[in-house]
Amino acid sequence: MMKHYCMIGTGVAAVNAAKAIRDVDKEAHISLFGAEKSLPYNRIKLSKELFSDLRSEKVLLKKEKWYEMQNIRTYPNTKIVRINTGDHLLLTKTGDTIPYDKLLICTGAKNRRLPVNGVDRRGVFTIREMHEAEDFKAFIEDKASIVNIGGGIQGLETAWSILQAGKKVSIVEVAPRLMARQLDEKTSTLLKRKIEEAGVDIYLNASIKEIVGDDQVKGIVLNDQLISCDSVIYSIGVVPNLDLVENTTIQTNRGIIVNEKMETNIQDVYAAGDVTELHGEVEGLWGRAMDQGKVAGKNMASATELYEKTTPFTVFNAFNMSLFSIGMVDEGLCDTTIIDEDGDEKYTRIFIKDEKIVGVISLEGIVASAPYKMAIENKISLNGISLDTVSVKELMSLVKERLSQPA
Ligand SMILES: Cc1cc2nc3c(=O)[nH]c(=O)nc-3n(C[C@H](O)[C@H](O)[C@H](O)COP(=O)(O)OP(=O)(O)OC[C@H]3O[C@@H](n4cnc5c(N)ncnc54)[C@H](O)[C@@H]3O)c2cc1C
Repeated sequence: MMKHYCMIGTGVAAVNAAKAIRDVDKEAHISLFGAEKSLPYNRIKLSKELFSDLRSEKVLLKKEKWYEMQNIRTYPNTKIVRINTGDHLLLTKTGDTIPYDKLLICTGAKNRRLPVNGVDRRGVFTIREMHEAEDFKAFIEDKASIVNIGGGIQGLETAWSILQAGKKVSIVEVAPRLMARQLDEKTSTLLKRKIEEAGVDIYLNASIKEIVGDDQVKGIVLNDQLISCDSVIYSIGVVPNLDLVENTTIQTNRGIIVNEKMETNIQDVYAAGDVTELHGEVEGLWGRAMDQGKVAGKNMASATELYEKTTPFTVFNAFNMSLFSIGMVDEGLCDTTIIDEDGDEKYTRIFIKDEKIVGVISLEGIVASAPYKMAIENKISLNGISLDTVSVKELMSLVKERLSQPA
């Protein structure tokens, strides 16, 4: 009998799972249920391309035709409100019951709520879904100044989009520096300077006391200083979206607990993407959600594959600064680092641990990233190379030689 594979959530994990299932099982029914109105789209564009036409086909992960050709059924605007794992049934918000043979939960994450008085005032926004981006854009259309809380990549890209739309923007960050997870001290400082040169005020080490206003936002109070603004937008991290699995027997901790096959503790129920927790880790990264989706799909369709953690890879292109950060870039956890720098425009730093490259930060531009990524992913040994004296250029030339040798 033909199987029915169901995905709850229509993000990148769901689409990749559906594709992986179809590659293995040409006949099965495959259904994607999503609470959002749109076909699956590239969520990252909600910050990178906030002021573009978000309803354009270019934002979609796959065009409508692709689903038709793959015989994958999509059900946008269809929220699943209950899972009955005993009887293999799903219940939609409108009361329909859907039987499944194998289920993938990929409900993603929610933005962490800003724990500050005044967060519910009109004019305060956070963006995770398309409609939130559209509401924000509509609200600020006739507004002049926006405070952006959060100095991570998503916050900075949003700030850049707002600035390009001709608004005044200020950035508020509780940490002592920007993009602290992906950058070192030097690149964080360079980035701060570039952003300030673009006319943006930056408040680091900020203690946010309150968002003030009457019927709508008038400003925020920081360390007893008032910053006036017409709107506040925040992105301060995410939490897995577990609403649907609360009060079920599906095991959770911070996320839905899965193994390397993306199986949960319940037979025929899998989970992938931002909603999961694997080996105690909750991720929240696009590339990993995509890979977990692929692995889940394969295993659901009975073709065994284990998930291997992909190397984090961040590309930043805003405020006239282009950089990438790959892998582990915490110097405190490394044996040594090798730096090549020249003023403010040239900087590459390689992070080394156990005679292997484990991370890189560079202003070289994305096209230069490939050999670094390959060296990290292939765990190329640096044995025999004098790490005290070698330059970045010499090291990478030796690494490329080793990469080209047969394993
Ligand atoms: C603005 C922004 C910028 C980002 N930038 C980056 C970046 O630069 N690099 C990076 O690595 N990551 C970035 N991310 C994170 C990245 O988008 C996520 O890691 C990725 O989208 C996770 O994919 P997912 O499939 O697990 O879940 P999601 O993309 O979160 O999709 C989950 C979907 O499930 C739906 N859903 C939830 N509950 C139900 C239900 N009960 N019934 C039906 N549907 C339901 C939701 O509505 C949502 O559409 C960014 C995120 C945002 C919001």
